[in-house]
Amino acid sequence: MKYFSLNDKSHISNYENAVIRGLAPDKGLYFPQEIRKLPATFFNELQHLSSEEIAFEAIKSFVGNEIPENELKGIISQTLDFDFPVAEVEENVGTLELFHGPTLAFKDVGAKFMAGSLGYFIKKGDLGKITVLVATSGDTGGAVANGFLDVEGIDVVILYPKGKVSEIQEKQLTTLGRNIKALEVNGAFDDCQDMVKKAFLDEEITSKSKLTSANSINVARWLPQMFYYFFAYKQLQKRDQKLVFSVPSGNFGNICAGMLAKKMGLPIDHFIAANNANNSVTEYLDSEIYKSKPSIPTISNAMDVGNPSNFVRVQQLFENSFPHLKESLSSYSFTDEETREAMQRVFEKTGYVMDPHGAVGYLGLKRFQKENPDYYGVFLETAHPVKFLNTVESTIDQKIQIPGSIQQIMGKSKVSKEISSYEDLKNYLLN
Ligand SMILES: *Cc1c(COP(=O)(O)O)cnc(C)c1O
Repeated sequence: MKYFSLNDKSHISNYENAVIRGLAPDKGLYFPQEIRKLPATFFNELQHLSSEEIAFEAIKSFVGNEIPENELKGIISQTLDFDFPVAEVEENVGTLELFHGPTLAFKDVGAKFMAGSLGYFIKKGDLGKITVLVATSGDTGGAVANGFLDVEGIDVVILYPKGKVSEIQEKQLTTLGRNIKALEVNGAFDDCQDMVKKAFLDEEITSKSKLTSANSINVARWLPQMFYYFFAYKQLQKRDQKLVFSVPSGNFGNICAGMLAKKMGLPIDHFIAANNANNSVTEYLDSEIYKSKPSIPTISNAMDVGNPSNFVRVQQLFENSFPHLKESLSSYSFTDEETREAMQRVFEKTGYVMDPHGAVGYLGLKRFQKENPDYYGVFLETAHPVKFLNTVESTIDQKIQIPGSIQQIMGKSKVSKEISSYEDLKNYLLN
């Protein structure tokens, strides 16, 4: 498959190069040149296909012959070693639980698939060592650390803001060791992000080591997220009802992958981008004016993004037509107070514990269904409530059970190096 840069369509790349580079040389995001419809037989036989078979059929055209079939199947089976159940929460409201993976948030799938792809290209070619450099506000770091652990030829360097990630998140990215290094930055997430961006442009560094990034701008992290929508649809196929997905959105990688699945023929009728106070896209759909904003801290902090990097991909999927986009996408924004109220209400009424991100998704869905009651709706639960333990326990006034895998990690000791400036990062990478 060929990919073009969204900044300059004449800049073409193959899958391998897009994965290794992350961004095109002109800093544009890569986008597939062709989006093929899946055959009707695929949907007719869906009930008889395993998750791995569904994933393989969905992604194979995007990888093409650059990874042999058997290798690709191996990567997929390592990626999908857990379940993606749809749980019924209320009448006409289901939740797709994406938190049963090793780091308890949905980013595990993308991180593992990217690690598998990059690992294959390193093994095959003579690329030398590659350094994955990534800034995290919380969940990306753990997923990337776990996904890339012990992948031959790859070192991972994770920058995270000191004191601004949850205790569980910090343990997940600082206790694995081996090829995973954690840098604790005296600053905010934006400082981490700026340092990473600067390093990518610093020739003193890039002439000495190959750097790549592992956030959802990378096609190998973005594309496999479409699997979720196929897995959910398989569980809902028997219903004869229009279907809407509400996706708690930050950088818009997840929702954009769902829209890609729809373009491939998956019968989804509508999408909802559920936002916290960081609502650039909600405002855009209301006003047709897009304004990026500085990010505002909220209790659903993985969505505290003022300028969503994948939104240009969403627009491209609709050929940059605002009316077409608006037909398929609604967006609503909610305050922390509304989010907490929803968590309380749903817990009291049904016993279901939502994390703050899922709760924003739930609110988006309910708002949409008020005017569109004929839809069956699914909101994505993007993280296990235990990842936001303090917020969840104080909100629903109830202790929640900590899974065994987390208890184990909490007992390990953190290894990180503190840095305060770009110079510190540069010295670290050059040595
Ligand atoms: C990353 C993340 C999101 C946002 O996903 P995007 O693909 O960036 O829109 C939402 N919820 C949780 C828990 C996350 O970790």
